[in-house]
Amino acid sequence: MQFARVVEVYDRIEATTKRLEMTNLLVGLLRATPPADLDEVVYLTQGRIHPDYMGIELGLAEKMVIRVLAYATGLEEERIETMWRDKGDLGLVAEEAIASRRQKPLESTPLTVAKVYDNLDAIARESGEGSQDRKIRLLSDLLSNATPREAKYIVRMVVGKMRLGVADMTIIDALATTFATKADRDRVERAYNVSSDLGEVARVIAAKGLKGLDEVRLKLFRPIRAMLAERLETLEEIVQRMGKAALEYKYDGLRVQAHISPSKIQLFSRHLEDITGQFPEILEGLRKLSVDRETIVEGEAVPVDANTGEFLPFQEVSRRRGRKTDVERMAKEFPVTLFTFDCLLRGEEDLTPRPYSERRKALETVINVSEGIRHSTVRVTDDVKEAERFFDEALQAGCEGLMAKALDSPYEAGARGYQWIKFKKEYSAALSDTIDLVVVGAFAGRGKRAGSYGALLMAAYDEASDVFRTTCKLGTGFDDETLRQFPEKLKAARRERRPARVDSKIEPDIWFNPEVVLEVRGAELTVSPVHTAAWDAIRSGAGLAVRFPRFTGRWREDKGPEDATTVKELLEMYRGQLKRTKGSH
Ligand code: AMP
Repeated sequence: MQFARVVEVYDRIEATTKRLEMTNLLVGLLRATPPADLDEVVYLTQGRIHPDYMGIELGLAEKMVIRVLAYATGLEEERIETMWRDKGDLGLVAEEAIASRRQKPLESTPLTVAKVYDNLDAIARESGEGSQDRKIRLLSDLLSNATPREAKYIVRMVVGKMRLGVADMTIIDALATTFATKADRDRVERAYNVSSDLGEVARVIAAKGLKGLDEVRLKLFRPIRAMLAERLETLEEIVQRMGKAALEYKYDGLRVQAHISPSKIQLFSRHLEDITGQFPEILEGLRKLSVDRETIVEGEAVPVDANTGEFLPFQEVSRRRGRKTDVERMAKEFPVTLFTFDCLLRGEEDLTPRPYSERRKALETVINVSEGIRHSTVRVTDDVKEAERFFDEALQAGCEGLMAKALDSPYEAGARGYQWIKFKKEYSAALSDTIDLVVVGAFAGRGKRAGSYGALLMAAYDEASDVFRTTCKLGTGFDDETLRQFPEKLKAARRERRPARVDSKIEPDIWFNPEVVLEVRGAELTVSPVHTAAWDAIRSGAGLAVRFPRFTGRWREDKGPEDATTVKELLEMYRGQLKRTKGSH
């Protein structure tokens, strides 16, 4: 398929602010795509070339791309750099530069999807000596044959900033509509949740239809999307809802999915990135267990103070990147303990359809407690008093709260439901709750904040419609360093217009695509006529606002925008708050 056909649709997707229209455009694109190109088109639309867990990523240095652009267009490098400074988006610069190029190539061949994909893939895989030159050649080869519009998207891809704004769920909707019916989207989503690979899902559904999708299974060394929890306000409600349930300590750390075979171990994050290299101490602990069959377990990694044995703030490990020696030093200084809480694969058997209680038993058989590897502390009860005591113990131990799990529930990949319910300490301390909100806009700073942002427009995630709705302007809790960082850290998410997935009545000076998540502490929730979160839910013509929000200083780089606090959670908190206020009078 001609690449021109694809980017034409991308331009239209970029221009729309309506999600439904976006889906329809995608359906049109998928229908026009021959089966052989389908997975590649899906990956490109996601802004990547492989599923995340494979760890094959594009991200060429902008300087290098500028050099190639200069070469391909005959423009001076300085000129291109100035354009870049003006526009802030190298894709737009490429578009303009190619359009104005002095020396048109003598002969150029129209780009195909396969050609673009293959070259990008080769660029991402190149490493080692001489790789820079080879990457430059591969990119020049594309740019000298590209139309201005094609160049825009190619450049955005290679610098790792494609960001069309098409959510995975939109692609799932489009795949269902194209190859089955809209009503079948859940089956498509299931296949995605199990495989974490939309390209694979597209390949299978195109070749074998829905039946084929049902055969997509859990596989070792391919992470499954994590099961998620709902939240409730009181332990009483939880017990009422679940009856006898397993209560586990809720550890505040990093979720880790460990894939283990007798000869190899791989670790994945909640976002399905390969984090094997970041936790040598977990690998060592798991190796000592000599697991003899293919096994997948899940747990939470928490840093422990080597001196006191107490938990340390999660930030100590949240960014264990960088050189190997640094990782090893940190693993010694702040070693983590992995508290395992689930077992998903055991030998040949996929345990995800099995009930919680069986999976827990399997977990306890496979994982022997050893240094650095433990089981989550658990108690099975239907007694509220006992649950409250257990909660106090959890807090005492340095945990955030409890996770209640239905004894008979399967492991539902990628789903948030009431099979798992979290209960956190913040609810008991009236409104000292922290929430995680997504940056969707900014207001230019004045006075001391000139040159940076005076305040940010923050949104909660509305799962039901897959959009982000505003809930406060955030202007406090920023130190000088943070203020300095904002424009740079948010640059990539900047948009000219309101992004399609943002719902706002307020018009900020700058829009951002929902990408960056910040932790915010608020004093209370109030009904608000200007914010769109939970619109009409409590009072018609009003939404919910966070009052006196303050940035805690914690960038939730571990959370994607869809992991932010949801509108539903805000509503739940608001209702809890009302109950408490009533109770105190
Ligand atoms: P939250 O991030 O607040 O939505 O809480 C869900 C997260 O709690 C999960 O993704 C895990 O990373 C973490 N967690 C901590 N302890 C447990 C546990 N015992 N069972 C399941 N998840 C846990």
